[in-house]
Amino acid sequence: MNAIKNVLIVGGGTAGWLTAGFLAKQLGGPQQQAVHITVVESSDIPTIGVGEGTFPSIRGTLSLLGIDEARFLRECSATFKQGIKFVDWVRPAGSVGTDHYFHPFSLPSQRSQGLELLPYWLLGAAGGDVAFAEAATMQKKIADAHRGPKRLSDGDYLGPMNYAYHFDAGRFATLLCKHAQSLGVQRQIATVQRVELAPDGSIAALHTAEAGRLEADLYIDCSGFRATLIGDALGAPFRDVNDVLFVDRALAMQVPYERPDAPIPSYTISTAHESGWTWDIGLQERRGIGYVYSSRYTDDARAEAVLRQYVGPQGEGVSARPLQLRVGYRETQWIKNCVAVGLSGGFVEPLEASGIGVIETAAFLISFLFPRDGNLAPVAKQFNTLMVARYERIVNFVKLHYCLSQRRDNAFWTDNCNPASIPEALQEQLAMWRHRPPHRLDFISDLEMYPPTSWQYVLHGMEYGCDISASRAAYPRMEEAMREFQTIRQVSQQALADLPPHRALIEQMCARP
Ligand code: FAD
Repeated sequence: MNAIKNVLIVGGGTAGWLTAGFLAKQLGGPQQQAVHITVVESSDIPTIGVGEGTFPSIRGTLSLLGIDEARFLRECSATFKQGIKFVDWVRPAGSVGTDHYFHPFSLPSQRSQGLELLPYWLLGAAGGDVAFAEAATMQKKIADAHRGPKRLSDGDYLGPMNYAYHFDAGRFATLLCKHAQSLGVQRQIATVQRVELAPDGSIAALHTAEAGRLEADLYIDCSGFRATLIGDALGAPFRDVNDVLFVDRALAMQVPYERPDAPIPSYTISTAHESGWTWDIGLQERRGIGYVYSSRYTDDARAEAVLRQYVGPQGEGVSARPLQLRVGYRETQWIKNCVAVGLSGGFVEPLEASGIGVIETAAFLISFLFPRDGNLAPVAKQFNTLMVARYERIVNFVKLHYCLSQRRDNAFWTDNCNPASIPEALQEQLAMWRHRPPHRLDFISDLEMYPPTSWQYVLHGMEYGCDISASRAAYPRMEEAMREFQTIRQVSQQALADLPPHRALIEQMCARP
């Protein structure tokens, strides 16, 4: 067993540079112990160029990397994201009933010790027909009023509301690239043409035209959907989940704002359509909009028509970039001396922006489990167990959004709600949640990307019926809960007055030295 001293990362997209920066930060140190990290990226193969929505974990990652929040906002055209607004997911546009719900990042208020708000909301403590996410946190009101999640005076990556960001994917990779190099990462522009295997099946070296033969102790495959190392060279089986999640294509556009001072939504707008859904993400100078759809249920021309109808006149003269999606994950993410991070390891469609979150987890795990002594097998086993379980749960969480829809306007929706397409574990959970709300005991937190409250917000945003009247006696704190819902309403008014407009907050933060 040889000590792991040299790490070679193939790919200079978000996965490659984020992993490089993370490892440089965590595995640096005195010269003799430091791990030497090189990123090999091709000048001929572009990055995917999408991936603009994130999850709040990104704040911890950026802070750990030592990137100043104002610099990040400025260099990545970034804006704040307080959650996702789901439009027309429950029923088609024009139907009777609410046309949207919100998945906020802030947890339900936790002012009263041990008081779980969801059961009391189900028992009517919030009054009226206010949605759970609106009753339990003030975040939707703040986002609806185009307020930011923090004040200028709050410290870096801190604020009263939980938040993530939207950003320009290309600029983000550039920032990470510069920052990782400042942490000591080497950059090599070269295209891997051949992978040389050792007799034991591990990777012996990579062959490139520009830099010749490159050797390392550990290889990290961040080559995107191509999966040059983990897939092409090592043949890790790919678990396709298109029997559960049907989308396999996307059309992406970059659209100007109607006016330069138009308010910027601090949430992703996800609108359901006949055979998929659109994302609509507001950056500082433009919107990123895309239609994610299933080629089994529509064709490319119709998909483009749906996208253009959504975008309206702002899309005139703007081309739409087609993308093919491979939705699923490698059943083995780490084989011998090669580990996959990013799209090479898997991709669960972008509905809940899991891509970058999974990269953060993988980078953390590699640095935490790092087999300095060269004993790779137990580390690979642990990594594979944790990552595959995580992917399975993300698939179920994303499926939750589809399978509870009341839409029946197209076979895409009918089939999505067919139990045959719903994983058994999710069906079992849904059966339990008919008579009691989701609880943290339903989840193994270390394997989940989304907290139990996200499941609660989506489940009840999708208007899932849950009758807990038979267990009313288990919820004796009704009056306290009513007071809590009342307090949340009152505090919201105060917060609206305290928090700055979203666009103004961004401009002021970007102007900081
Ligand atoms: P890429 O960006 O494709 O980078 C691959 C790199 O590998 C490139 O630098 C390329 O040059 C290099 N490379 C490839 N082959 C070789 C070779 N032979 N030799 C040398 N270099 C090579 N994620 C989110 O978190 N939020 C979102 O909102 C979101 N939206 C998405 C929407 C769509 C439509 C898609 C498809 C994905 C989305 N994602 C999202 C996922 C996100 O884009 C990716 O997880 C993220 O960009 C990481 O990509 P990557 O670095 O793995 O691959």
